[in-house]
Amino acid sequence: MKKYKIAVIKGDGIGPEIIDEAIKVLDAVSAGSEYEFEYNEYLMGGDAYDITGDPLPDETVVGCKESDAVLFGAIGGEKWDNLPRDKRPESGLLRLREQLELYANFRPVKVYDELIDASSLKKEVIEGVDLLVMRELTGGIYFGKPRQKNEDSAFNTMIYTKDEVVRIAKMAFEAALKRDKKVCSVDKANVLEVSQFWRDVVIEVAKGYPEVTLTHMYVDNAAMQLVRDPKQFDVILTGNIFGDILSDEASMISGSIGLLPSASVGGSVGLYEPIHGSAPDIAGQGIANPIATISSASLMLRFAFGEEKAADKIDRAITKLLDEGYRTKDISSYGAKEVCSTTEIGSIIADYVSKG
Ligand code: NAD
Repeated sequence: MKKYKIAVIKGDGIGPEIIDEAIKVLDAVSAGSEYEFEYNEYLMGGDAYDITGDPLPDETVVGCKESDAVLFGAIGGEKWDNLPRDKRPESGLLRLREQLELYANFRPVKVYDELIDASSLKKEVIEGVDLLVMRELTGGIYFGKPRQKNEDSAFNTMIYTKDEVVRIAKMAFEAALKRDKKVCSVDKANVLEVSQFWRDVVIEVAKGYPEVTLTHMYVDNAAMQLVRDPKQFDVILTGNIFGDILSDEASMISGSIGLLPSASVGGSVGLYEPIHGSAPDIAGQGIANPIATISSASLMLRFAFGEEKAADKIDRAITKLLDEGYRTKDISSYGAKEVCSTTEIGSIIADYVSKG
């Protein structure tokens, strides 16, 4: 029997509630299959700081590196907001991404027909949207040195090396091959040298992918086009800071933060997590939407284990759940026949998965 080792980090706030539901669904998918999952729990974030004094204990890094994939809930909360920067929950996540060399962040954005009214955009603009934002995650201005701040001035450095651009561009072209074969590279090449360099390298990489159509767009225009006509996009390839902003903008096309998954990959072990945070305002109430996390588990099956059929099963089960009108409170205004708790949603999806 094949075994997949999953490092599970529940984290803070609603993290434990939503991860428990993802595990319920993973158990349903593995029942009767030719593989099994081994789950090992590790600490990260505020909880980890309270227990060990470090938001990313060494044991967590070692455990993640020894696993086949990391399934992560969310971290953070007001309680830890005044700690020094290196002790805050977010620093644990940044360090883990660095340790695992997760340079590529996949953020698929899909509009579920059943929830089309949840978006603030018009139905005809978003109907059928299915795009992927591919963000470079470990380079660019967030990591560039030198960086400095004093009383009179401050600066950061936006830097990309050729290797960094080549590897993320290849990732985007490979993803496009499995989709509609279109890559739109987003930069600010009209103003920034680093962006012109990015563009030159992407054009070079594109020569190895003649089936994929490459276009370029300035980031200010991309921000506008995402809300004007998001259907024009298939894969959006972009750097760290532009990707940070555009992926959040793109996520709002779907209308609910509780629905969208993400995958961060690059090194030998990938990290799969919902795009939302730890939602401290609703933690412990049993009302968090677990769909983004369950969907992240589906991405893990697809990317980390190559279990495409199992991932399809989960994706179909989520669509069926929404079709049947089961909703958590956050999306209850849109076509709800029954408002359910976090655990009820997990159980219904697991049940649909079991029935195939
Ligand atoms: P958030 O995403 O946690 O919450 C924003 C709003 O969306 C809240 O009203 C929340 O109740 C709601 N929401 C989020 N996820 C939901 C879900 N699954 N179901 C239903 N409603 C949901 O963002 P925030 O409030 O800005 O941040 C809260 C904490 O999370 C902060 O400490 C922040 O630093 C942290 N955070 C962590 C991550 C991460 O772990 N990757 C990402 C973003 C924010």
